[in-house]
Amino acid sequence: VPLPVDLVDMLRRTVAARGDHPAFVTPSGRTTWAEIGGEVDGLARRLRGAGVTEGDRVAVLAGNGLPFTTAVLATWAAGAVVVPLNHRLTAADLAVLVGDSGPGLLLVGPGMTEAAAATCAAVSAAPRVEVVDADGRFLAGGPEADLPADTPGTDAPAAIMYTSGTTGRPKGVVISHGNALQNAVTCTTVIGRRPEDVELVMVPQFNITGLCSQTVPVVLLGATAYLLDGFEAGRALAAVREHGCTSTVGAPTMWWRLLGHAEETGDDALAGFRLALFGGAPMPTALLERMRAAMPQATLGNGFGMTETCSMITYVGGEDAVRMPHTVGRPLPLTELRLRRPGAGDQDAAPDEVGEIVVRGGQVALGYWTADGIAPLTDPDGWIATGDAAVLEDGFVVLRDRLKDVIKRGGESVFSFEVENVLHQHSGVLDAAVVGVPDEQYGERVVAHVVATPGSGLTPDEVRAFCREHLAHYKVPSVVEIRDELPRNPGGKVVKALLRDG
Ligand code: ATP
Ligand code: MG
Repeated sequence: VPLPVDLVDMLRRTVAARGDHPAFVTPSGRTTWAEIGGEVDGLARRLRGAGVTEGDRVAVLAGNGLPFTTAVLATWAAGAVVVPLNHRLTAADLAVLVGDSGPGLLLVGPGMTEAAAATCAAVSAAPRVEVVDADGRFLAGGPEADLPADTPGTDAPAAIMYTSGTTGRPKGVVISHGNALQNAVTCTTVIGRRPEDVELVMVPQFNITGLCSQTVPVVLLGATAYLLDGFEAGRALAAVREHGCTSTVGAPTMWWRLLGHAEETGDDALAGFRLALFGGAPMPTALLERMRAAMPQATLGNGFGMTETCSMITYVGGEDAVRMPHTVGRPLPLTELRLRRPGAGDQDAAPDEVGEIVVRGGQVALGYWTADGIAPLTDPDGWIATGDAAVLEDGFVVLRDRLKDVIKRGGESVFSFEVENVLHQHSGVLDAAVVGVPDEQYGERVVAHVVATPGSGLTPDEVRAFCREHLAHYKVPSVVEIRDELPRNPGGKVVKALLRDG
């Protein structure tokens, strides 16, 4: 049954109900919901005046902030589909995404004019480019036209969201108004977000987490968000202190930086968090324990999901997260989840057997965007295969690895998360990733890439000896490479292909 409201109605209701309440705060100022409502309405009329119509794509190249947020909300109000672009990509990679999604218009935020020009130079059918003005407005002074008589409806596409490109080329996922609304409603309920929350958005808003797990729920509740452009631990903590942020979502690497910075400088800003959430990449148990010690007042919560499921589909928080630090939780109330035996059609995995997570429900996106239209991403019964391997423990999902990353050594499977978790327990290990590389004798061998804690003098032999104490012999890395850093994408995920090749 389609939901009775869409994302455009959602914003209008919040503007009507919470007009005077602070909406978005940035280093350069703050707006109320009434002000945002006015800005969005004006830009939506100018987008219509510029010829944007139902189903058109409008791309946005901007860091976290008001221009980005207004552009997204106004594109929806104009009845069009927003394409948030990852501004950290090279012009060549951006050109692929622009060529793929075919926007008629590209809205360019502060400081991105050159990147936009380089991108457009590399696209055969370049979009019209509109750069934000000094007042933070797009198309200022441009002609205005009426908004569509009806809002888009829940089944209409709202955005093409590109996946993180961790395992290959980013895929354009078409999410609908209904997908984003269902996610906002269920994750707000399950996490326990409140209208008085001040959410720190420190992950990129162009990513599914920043947009659908943070920005849209903040609009739904009429809460407040502090938009941080570019993650830096000191600036994030300063924002928490100065603006009273009460909740946030971060990749595990971000938490690790926040905790480190707070410890080094004696900053007590973390005491302000009521909700400290994480996801997107495996959370090492050792890091979770540090979070707990540093934020005894906060509810810690882990959300698992993917772009294709419009963000979070399982969640664990509070007592359960403490009791079961290795799980990503139970499925959200409106999501069905089961484990399928990999490579065996639609057969369920046996209890205790590692299976592939498959899910079904109103958050599963409309499909992948292709030149020939929207391609389905589910089987005919509506199940989407996540590519993530897991077991169930008491109904809680315990992730084991990405299927693509499981190491096949001789007859045995080695799950990289397990080895990484052990590595993180060594005090000399700051960061770690484990991959399989081809091996003549065993098919694949286990290789660990480790970043040493400064001053620890960590050696590969020491790492291997530690692993031998904590792991079965076939899981012990045969090679340990000490590196300065690991290749991570903006979502904080290690790009393992780069470790296998190099
Ligand atoms: P691509 O699909 O382009 O290779 P990606 O899968 O990293 O990139 P996203 O959709 O951003 O793109 O990420 C979804 C994936 O992130 C999941 O399939 C899972 O592997 C991982 N992930 C998400 N949440 C968690 C979590 N809480 N713990 C561990 N891993 C997670
Ligand atoms: Mg993926």
